[in-house]
Amino acid sequence: MCVELIATGNEIMSGLTLDTNFNWTAAKLSSSGIEVRYHCTLNDNLEDLLASFETASKRSRFVIVSGGLGPTEDDLSALAASKFLGTPLVFDPVAYNDIVQKLAERGREPNSYHKKQAMFPEKATVIENSVGTSAGFSFLLGNSKFYFLPGVPREFRSMFSEYVFPDIVNTLEKGKSLCVKVLRIFGLGESEVAEKLGDFSPEGVNVGYRIRLPEIHLRLTASGYDSEVLQSLLQNACTEASKRLTGFVFSQEEETLEEATASLLLQKDLTLSVAESCTGGLCASRFTDVAGSSAYFLGGTVVYSNDSKEKLLGVSAETLERFGAVSEEVVAEMSYRVKTLFGSDIGLSISGIAGPGGGTLEKPVGTVWFGFSHVLSGTSCEKRNFTGTRDEIKNFAAATAIDIVRKFCLDYVA
Ligand code: ATP
Ligand code: MG
Repeated sequence: MCVELIATGNEIMSGLTLDTNFNWTAAKLSSSGIEVRYHCTLNDNLEDLLASFETASKRSRFVIVSGGLGPTEDDLSALAASKFLGTPLVFDPVAYNDIVQKLAERGREPNSYHKKQAMFPEKATVIENSVGTSAGFSFLLGNSKFYFLPGVPREFRSMFSEYVFPDIVNTLEKGKSLCVKVLRIFGLGESEVAEKLGDFSPEGVNVGYRIRLPEIHLRLTASGYDSEVLQSLLQNACTEASKRLTGFVFSQEEETLEEATASLLLQKDLTLSVAESCTGGLCASRFTDVAGSSAYFLGGTVVYSNDSKEKLLGVSAETLERFGAVSEEVVAEMSYRVKTLFGSDIGLSISGIAGPGGGTLEKPVGTVWFGFSHVLSGTSCEKRNFTGTRDEIKNFAAATAIDIVRKFCLDYVA
């Protein structure tokens, strides 16, 4: 029941254009439980096209070909399909009228090339293009259904969604369903997750990793005919995996880290403010991405220079001078001061070296200090060493700061 995707075009083959039609289609199919087994890319070359259709017809139930349906000489897909089928290309007056009409809407006249776009292999079914001029077509050969779609992503996606996807789903066994649960994990690397999961291999459930740095998403899927059974299999698997990964799973409901943290802040009736240096407001931005954040997020300051840390927050000049801006002592003062400034329950602070310059032997690029101050529990600090580009370090730092709040909330008893 597998699907094969064939992308055509010299510009894809040469690496000039990324084959986004593949990523998009494969993601859509596989998230619906439809297996994509083969994917190939070809130059605009008749012989290669024919050979690939031949191979695909022997091994794949559905074959989706993208590109090469335009009016120019290098657009060879319809010709290759007709040679492959051993039938002539036939002019389709309905498709031609449609092209003429679409051109007229843009104030253009058809030329001889447009006639070519209305030529399809005999007996093929034309697939309408509601967003462009190149129509597609499909045919069944033996046990393989072939779909030919234009390469332009906007047109490809629209025709795939409107015609191809429903056609594949309809053809596949009726009544079978796929259930999915995703555990979102923060604070562990891929191998650490694998280590903690150990021999976790729930029966009837497929386990896959998706790396969404700085997070890891564990995707649990089960397919079958009884969705109640599937849900219960998945729930048991989720419970077991969460137990093995205690503290690191922040969501089972596809929430973002800030959304999961927001729910906890609301539950525990806590308010928050942040003082940021190296993240430049990223952390505040993420907290305020959540609708309704005004209920717990009181405000933030970006105190990038030593001067601003001193003047805006009141961090002591002596502490800055003695320990440097990226230090336990400074983030401790920052978190305490920002909490007082905004009158929040929690004050959160971040100061680090995002690079690429500015690192020293003692404090290399990627060193980030976090301060956390709570009205009753006092102040604590932690240091992390991240690696990566400036962007990655900033993102890691903001996410870590949010996770510090999440972890505090988990244990906090009001
Ligand atoms: P046209 O009528 O524009 O010629 P076509 O069906 O002949 O359409 P191609 O000529 O193969 O399609 O590609 C047209 C453009 O669409 C390419 O220049 C490229 O920018 C984009 N494109 C083609 N194939 C892909 C792909 N697999 N992924 C992403 N973009 C693509
Ligand atoms: Mg083309």
